[in-house]
Amino acid sequence: MNLETQCLHAGYQPKNGEPRNIPIVQSTTFRYETSQDMAALFDLEAAGYFYTRLQNPTSDRVAAKIAALEGGSAALLLSSGQAASFYAVFNIASCGDHVVASSAIYGGTYNLFAITMKRMGIAFTFVSPDCSKEELDAAFQPNTKAVFGETIANPALTVLDIEKFATAAHAHGVPLIVDNTFATPVNCRPFEWGADIITHSTTKYLDGHAAAVGGAIVDSGRFDWTAHGDRFAGLTTPDDSYHGVVYTERFGLEGAYITKAVVQLMRDLGATPAPMNAFLLNIGLETLPLRMKKHCDNGLRLAEYLQGHDKIAWVRYPGLLGDSQHELATKYLPDGTCGVVIFGVKGGRAAAETFMAGLKIASIATHVADAKTCVLHPASATHRQMNDEELAAAGVSPDMIRLSAGIEGADDLIADVEQALAAVPA
Ligand SMILES: *Cc1c(COP(=O)(O)O)cnc(C)c1O
Repeated sequence: MNLETQCLHAGYQPKNGEPRNIPIVQSTTFRYETSQDMAALFDLEAAGYFYTRLQNPTSDRVAAKIAALEGGSAALLLSSGQAASFYAVFNIASCGDHVVASSAIYGGTYNLFAITMKRMGIAFTFVSPDCSKEELDAAFQPNTKAVFGETIANPALTVLDIEKFATAAHAHGVPLIVDNTFATPVNCRPFEWGADIITHSTTKYLDGHAAAVGGAIVDSGRFDWTAHGDRFAGLTTPDDSYHGVVYTERFGLEGAYITKAVVQLMRDLGATPAPMNAFLLNIGLETLPLRMKKHCDNGLRLAEYLQGHDKIAWVRYPGLLGDSQHELATKYLPDGTCGVVIFGVKGGRAAAETFMAGLKIASIATHVADAKTCVLHPASATHRQMNDEELAAAGVSPDMIRLSAGIEGADDLIADVEQALAAVPA
């Protein structure tokens, strides 16, 4: 099935007389005939639902669709993208371990890694996404457990050289985790370039309507944890909390990583999505290819308009000819990048504020990748906790405006930007 068809049909095929839509199973619990039936579930000897904190049929069907879209072996939905980033790393790294990450990542992820997970004893080395192979190799340590980057960084819009990062990760015996939120599987499928695990903030394009916060983790099923058994002992040696189950033996390379994330991390930390939110996410997924095309068309139109405007200091859009990211975008995102454009208005922060306040269609919102156009000033919002040096490493300048093109008419969006720029003093 091609991607458009999968967006509608993967993950759930109703049988005779069953609901056509994925049903919302709004139940915390599931009934069993005997205690033995239940015990087998708790011992991971039988598959089945028993408590929605661990698994729920609505969420699982939507997760299966996302796994199909990314070409993965298994997937898991979470209550947020932040939870997805945390679980994806914490599933294979714990106190005393180390992770290499691109410095051009979402501000919330940077905070999670550099502050919160550091407090848990996990150290991160941040590398520039355009670092040389040698610089990247030098970032690894004997206790490194993973490499992390974003396909298209939020908000810097740098495009990850997935092959370069995957090659380095594999040479050091660790997986590459890629946050594919901005590209979505419509525009890039990171497993095809060597990534091993994919994360999503489904809050963004996958949902697409600003209706539900959510996250997802997808496993390619291809990383051989057993080839580096000592490094990934959590997957390859007995888990005492399940009477000694060894995940790679019981669930194979296709299932070990996601099963461990469900039965250990969901069990103990509980970042479970509401079944209703999984249902809403699925409605968004059905139209994802149509929406992505329009987001990308609008993003490019706006970028081209801004590029020619004399009140604009600079524009970055990876789909724009001549952009520093255009070459990488042509390789990894040949059909389009995303709807997000970043730029600076001449006159710095004050001019940015005047411009944003003057917009009539685009709203100021801490959101991105939504059907409705929105704008944000990252340095005073999502990246507020960073100092100037950290801002520079993340690719966020003080004058940067992040405009997320929705799916409105392109001419209306351009007219809105035009009238707001007219109010900015020359
Ligand atoms: C928004 C975002 C996140 C965090 O996701 P939430 O759903 O807001 O928790 C992670 N990564 C990227 C690239 C994002 O844009």
